[in-house]
Parts: sequence; structure tokens; C-alpha cells
Amino acid sequence: MESLLQFQENVDLKNYCTYGIGGLARYFIEISSIEEMQGAILHCKKRNIPFMVLGKGSNCLFDDKGYNGVVLLNKIDFLRFGASSDEIASSLYVGAGYSFSLLGMQTAKRGLGGLEFASGIPATVGGAIWMNAGANGNETCNPLDSVDFLDADGILHRLKRIDLPFSYRSSPFQKQKGAIVAATFSLTQKKEARQEQLEIVNKRIKTQPLSEKSAGCVFMNPPQISAGALIDQCGLKGFSIGTAAVSTVHANFLINKKDASATEMRTLINEVKRQVFLRTGIDLKDEIRHIAYSDYNEGV
Ligand SMILES: Cc1cc2nc3c(=O)[nH]c(=O)nc-3n(C[C@H](O)[C@H](O)[C@H](O)COP(=O)(O)OP(=O)(O)OC[C@H]3O[C@@H](n4cnc5c(N)ncnc54)[C@H](O)[C@@H]3O)c2cc1C
Repeated sequence: MESLLQFQENVDLKNYCTYGIGGLARYFIEISSIEEMQGAILHCKKRNIPFMVLGKGSNCLFDDKGYNGVVLLNKIDFLRFGASSDEIASSLYVGAGYSFSLLGMQTAKRGLGGLEFASGIPATVGGAIWMNAGANGNETCNPLDSVDFLDADGILHRLKRIDLPFSYRSSPFQKQKGAIVAATFSLTQKKEARQEQLEIVNKRIKTQPLSEKSAGCVFMNPPQISAGALIDQCGLKGFSIGTAAVSTVHANFLINKKDASATEMRTLINEVKRQVFLRTGIDLKDEIRHIAYSDYNEGV
């Protein structure tokens, strides 16, 4: 498998993230099966090359210099439904590159509850698990049953949800190099699932700047108040640095209005944090992932 891998060089990361920001990936490869992911990880390990797994890039701010390693674009996108032994529950096994939003819609249409909130989150299933993405009072870890994870040595593990400590926008995978390659979810029969999923999408359309380039909410919500409300109270809606701006629709969305650089976006993020802290004493924490360029210098 390793020898069949086709690496591209100098691929523009702007085209692989929702921000449309970033330099070149030194090496880049599309991965469409678990075996390919395993081969690619072993390849990187053998040559001591840094790698990162990329989903839909909907929570990534790449560096202007790009990424000096291998970007593994996750396209493992199978989906298998199967009723579990429990009469009222239904389970599914899904590739980590599958669209999380599509999964939310498809399960709701089948009258299955548990993933309605996923509809409208522009993630892969793997990215949603890694971030423990959530909305409308629900989180990815809730209907999750197990995760198939390739560690940095290319060894495949099936991890049970019960053994995985998730919390708000945090998963154990954030502390461990490797790739989430598949997952199982347990859902329940729910007549209102489709109606609720449609309501969730409509709410997004009304409250989020979906036609702008963004990475969704940039900051995590501090206890008791939403980060968006805080930023709004500080009068920062519309505030900009270059063409990076705080959305006038939703203050926790920092948008790329036109060819903003990563440096501009980072400066805006830091300035919003500084002003919120000065006025409220609250220290906002980043939800967005800053993907650093690395110092690595070898060839593939
Ligand atoms: C319009 C908009 C709305 C959004 N709404 C929400 C929302 O309601 N709730 C919410 O929580 N988020 C929201 N987000 C943010 C984003 O969609 C989530 O954080 C999502 O989980 C990111 O998934 P991804 O596949 O795009 O991951 P990426 O952005 O590609 O990656 C994010 C991080 O996860 C790692 N990663 C990704 N896949 C894997 C994998 N298979 N194995 C190992 N590591 C991996 C990456 O290396 C990176 O560090 C929104 C974003 C946008 C643009």
C-alpha cells in the first residue's frame, strides 16, 4: 500500500479550508480508505516527516507559509446502517471523511434521533469527533459509540466511547497524534427528528453569516455567557484588520472578506481577545485551531 501512495507537492491550502487562507502544503495526499491512511502514516513515520489529518478545514487557520509536512486529506467516506440488537436503537458505521452535516440530514430523514444538530456543521465525521463539535445543546460524543483510531505507529485501535473523556470542544484525540478513520453511532427512533433537523438548519440560516468565508465560532463560550454576546457588548461587530473582520451578523464569526492573510486574521483574533479582556475581565479561549508551519526539512 505504501508504495502506491501518490503525494502531490506544493498544494495551496487556501482551497482546502473554509477560511480560504493559508500557504502551500509541502506534501499533500487524498486518502480514501483506512488501509491508505495506515500506509501514509507508516510512510511518514519511516521518514520522520510531520503529518496532519485534514477534514473539511472548517476549523483550521493555516499559516501564511503553509505546512511543512504532509497533509493527509481524509476522504474515507463509506456509510453503513445496521439495526443493533436493541429494538428501539439503530446503529451506523461511518468513515471519518463522511460529511457530518449530510449524516445529520440522512439520519433525521430515516426517523433516527441523536445527530439532528450535525446538520449545517460543515465538518467531516472525524473532524467533529476530534473537536467534539456541538450545537443546540448536543455534542458529537453523545450519540457516539466507538471510534476507530490509527495511532502514530499505524496501529488500529477500536476505542469505546465509555473509555474516552470528552468535554466541551475537547476530545482525547487532541493530545494524541494519529488519525480517526471511522466511528459507530447509536441513534434512537424519533418521529420528530426530521422536523427538528430542519428547524436547526433554518435557525443557522437566520443567525449565521453563511455566505462569508469563516471557520464558524472562533472562541469557546465562557461559563454563563456566549462569546458572541460578549464581543457584541464590547461594540466590536464590524471591527476589522485589513480584510479580516468581525461579522455584523454573528460576533463570534470572524470572516475573511477578501484575501485576508493568516497574519491579519490572527491579529484580529488577538485584538478581539484583548479588548474583551480589557472591558470585561474575561479571557476568551480559541476554539479555532491554528495550524503551525513546522521546522522540518527532509524530503518524502
Ligand atoms: C459556517 C460554519 C459553522 C460552524 N458551526 C459549528 C457548530 O455549530 N458547532 C461546532 O462545534 N463547530 C462548528 N463549526 C466549526 C467546525 O465545523 C467544527 O470544528 C468541525 O468539527 C471541524 O471539522 P473538520 O472536518 O472541518 O475538521 P478540520 O477543520 O479539517 O480539522 C480540525 C482539527 O481536527 C483535526 N482532524 C480533523 N479530522 C481528523 C481525523 N480524522 N483524525 C485526526 N485529526 C483530525 C485536524 O488535524 C485539525 O487539528 C462551524 C464552522 C463553519 C465554517
